[in-house]
Amino acid sequence: MDYNTIIIGAGAAGMMCAIEAAKRGRHVLLMEKSNKLGRKILMSGGGRCNFTNLNIQPGKYISQNPHFVKSALARYTQWDFIDLVNKYQIAFHEKTLGQLFCDHKARDIVEMLSKEMMRYNVRIQLNVGDIQIIQRSKGFSLTSHHQSVTTENLVIATGGLSIPSMGSSPFAYQVAKQFGIPVIETRPGLVPFTLHEKDKTQLSPLAGMSMDVIATTDENTISFRENMLFTHRGLSGPAILQISSYWQSKKNIYLNLLPDINIFEYLKNQQQQSPKVLLKTVLASRLPSRFVELHMSEHLLRSRLADINYATFETLADKLHHWTLKPNATEGYRTAEVTLGGIDTDELSSKTMEAKKVTGLFFIGEAVDVTGWLGGYNFQWAWSSGWAAGQVC
Ligand SMILES: Cc1cc2nc3c(=O)[nH]c(=O)nc-3n(C[C@H](O)[C@H](O)[C@H](O)COP(=O)(O)OP(=O)(O)OC[C@H]3O[C@@H](n4cnc5c(N)ncnc54)[C@H](O)[C@@H]3O)c2cc1C
Repeated sequence: MDYNTIIIGAGAAGMMCAIEAAKRGRHVLLMEKSNKLGRKILMSGGGRCNFTNLNIQPGKYISQNPHFVKSALARYTQWDFIDLVNKYQIAFHEKTLGQLFCDHKARDIVEMLSKEMMRYNVRIQLNVGDIQIIQRSKGFSLTSHHQSVTTENLVIATGGLSIPSMGSSPFAYQVAKQFGIPVIETRPGLVPFTLHEKDKTQLSPLAGMSMDVIATTDENTISFRENMLFTHRGLSGPAILQISSYWQSKKNIYLNLLPDINIFEYLKNQQQQSPKVLLKTVLASRLPSRFVELHMSEHLLRSRLADINYATFETLADKLHHWTLKPNATEGYRTAEVTLGGIDTDELSSKTMEAKKVTGLFFIGEAVDVTGWLGGYNFQWAWSSGWAAGQVC
């Protein structure tokens, strides 16, 4: 055999796996179709890479089998990755909700991983062409361009379908198909919503405005309190990206636009204390006035609190605490941060990521049916699953 391990895809998961396998003295080749390592790391977190989260927990991952992530996340934790970052003296900070970002640039993380790969003699090939895989009685042979190489173990780390302009490819799903391994249907996740024409026209004057909201779906099983941003095409911002991963086509989303107060009680109190004040003035102290003007009748807004009955307050409160919208669609893979679905986890060992029915074949990272929340969870899955495979491949 030419190699003990060949890893296809030099993203976060592939590089971590290469380091770990090479550390064990394995002869490792990392094959990448683009001209650089870790392209998504470089563009992540607005160029500062949100490389993990202090609050990593299995419940913050979406998969058909919610237990699948437990083993890998417990064996290579956020603290392990933070140790590595500290070892390279990369300065970082917590931005919000446990999210850790580089102080300087995402390139620090790619350079750290490159140095580790160099240290343990990982061989790297960039700009590789289409790869054909043939299973042999023991191991695999791979052909691309004019080269042919053999390996005992093969790790597929080619990610999902998000951001095609960055070279994402369905390669992992094609390999799964070749070996008879099912793939859970994929769809874009952590992605902005587009709106139906009527809502879009009504809300477009708000483009650029953001609000602190609690976003939830029809099922009401999960909610996110973060910022929402109005865009020219629809809705974005962290709360929307998070809820998009749970949204089912044609269903509603619900937004609590006043998460800190019970506006019904507040209006009743205000009515007693300042009956002559206009409703418009009271609401504008809690909500952006542009939003208020767009959503309430001029007549109501110009009414004094004393002239408004409780039933009207109740209707108003319901509207503001359960603002209901039916998105038209998502912006799709073009702007999605991640791909939901992927290689069926029932077919993989949760301890090693090896395919149960194909000895020596592994799938790691985003290619697998595991998707994390926004906030460093996806990189942690890439590190943890790459590490887990690296211990045995
Ligand atoms: C704009 C953006 C920002 C993000 N920011 C964050 C963030 O801050 N924090 C976070 O946790 N997550 C973030 N994510 C998600 C995160 O980038 C991914 O979850 C993570 O990169 C997945 O790692 P991976 O190694 O599985 O796949 P990838 O990083 O996608 O790597 C796959 C690699 O395989 C290569 N490849 C593909 N096909 C082939 C082929 N046929 N042959 C050879 N090579 C191939 C690709 O070129 C690529 O280098 C962001 C995503 C995007 C799009």
